[in-house]
Amino acid sequence: MDVDAFAAAARSWLADQKAASALPTDWGAILPGPITDLGREWQRRLYDAGFAGIDWPEEYGGRGLTPEHTMAWGEAAAEVEAPAVLNMVGLVLTAGALLTFGTHEQKSTHLPLTVTGERVWCQMFSEPDAGSDLASLTTKAERDGETWRVNGRKVWTSAGNAADWGILMARTKSLSAAPKHEGISFFLVDMLTPGLQTRPLRQMTGSAEFDEVTLDEVELPADALLGPEHGGWGVAMGALTRERGFIGAGAKALQSHLEALLAHQSRSRVETDRRVAAYATGRTLALLSQRQGPTASVASSLAKLGLAELAMELAAVRATSAADMLRSPASDAVVGAPGARLGGGTSEVQRNIIGERLLGLPREPK
Ligand SMILES: Cc1cc2nc3c(=O)[nH]c(=O)nc-3n(C[C@H](O)[C@H](O)[C@H](O)COP(=O)(O)OP(=O)(O)OC[C@H]3O[C@@H](n4cnc5c(N)ncnc54)[C@H](O)[C@@H]3O)c2cc1C
Repeated sequence: MDVDAFAAAARSWLADQKAASALPTDWGAILPGPITDLGREWQRRLYDAGFAGIDWPEEYGGRGLTPEHTMAWGEAAAEVEAPAVLNMVGLVLTAGALLTFGTHEQKSTHLPLTVTGERVWCQMFSEPDAGSDLASLTTKAERDGETWRVNGRKVWTSAGNAADWGILMARTKSLSAAPKHEGISFFLVDMLTPGLQTRPLRQMTGSAEFDEVTLDEVELPADALLGPEHGGWGVAMGALTRERGFIGAGAKALQSHLEALLAHQSRSRVETDRRVAAYATGRTLALLSQRQGPTASVASSLAKLGLAELAMELAAVRATSAADMLRSPASDAVVGAPGARLGGGTSEVQRNIIGERLLGLPREPK
């Protein structure tokens, strides 16, 4: 099926869902834990309608189409403000890592359950002392005969307690034995494994979307390792570039917010200027994302940075009265927006990537 015909079919299906009031509100890249069942049900409907695993091979439950088809679906979903996938961690990051690095058995075990929403994934990368500098992570995985024994602590694990499985980065060579990027491995972990515990963390929006995860003598089977032993950094970096690409592709979803900005009657020239500037930035980001095309790259950092900063500005311009700053959709946006500056790599870190890897500036001193 060519991309235009596929996009038309997607728009028509989405319009039917909308007419039947069967479209969920877009929850963004991260599915909040409390609505996981709604997410599973939506993912199942996408799968049944042929809009899931669009560019994955058919033998693992996909449609066998191209990244351009996936992009067309993402745009069609964004136009009606519906979530394109259940969550990014499972359908974009984990699936991408599995497709690139997984054995046939690993792909067959995980992908068919992931594409239908039966297996929901979370991401256990960040630690209390390893966020931006992720390679400093200290959670340890030691070989123990055929198995791995894992000990450590992870934090900011979005929907950790609602997920069935998680992707985990852990140190397999001590910091004294190898440069810090070269001693890390990447694992697939059943969240019900004995010794693994989640504890919800409440954030300033009032909800608890993250968990702290402790791993105490957690035993993982040999096939939990994804990709080369000690080569987990490369697996994770491939996955995170996809994450930024996915967040960047969210520019399309901005359109209706931008139009709402223009429709609103400003009370002063200053307010008008601010709205017009935010509108122009948003349109530029949407065009930048389109130009990048369907494949995530280092350039995704540009869109990720721009969107995170614009989210702050949009939240601020939407709050136009004192009442807005009390509990309201506008105040929710104000307290929620700073998270976008941190998740998926902070704005400062995106600026470093843009400077060093896109513009070729000297590397920052270590
Ligand atoms: C909404 C959201 C969802 C998240 N979901 C997950 C998840 O599911 N799984 C997961 O593993 N993690 C998750 N995280 C964690 C996220 O990846 C980290 O918060 C992020 O990487 C920053 O790490 P940190 O919080 O430890 O801050 P730090 O790294 O301690 O940074 C503190 C400050 O210093 C700045 N800084 C740090 N290094 C540099 C530098 N070299 N140059 C300039 N400035 C610098 C940062 O920009 C930041 O302002 C999530 C975070 C958020 C907000």
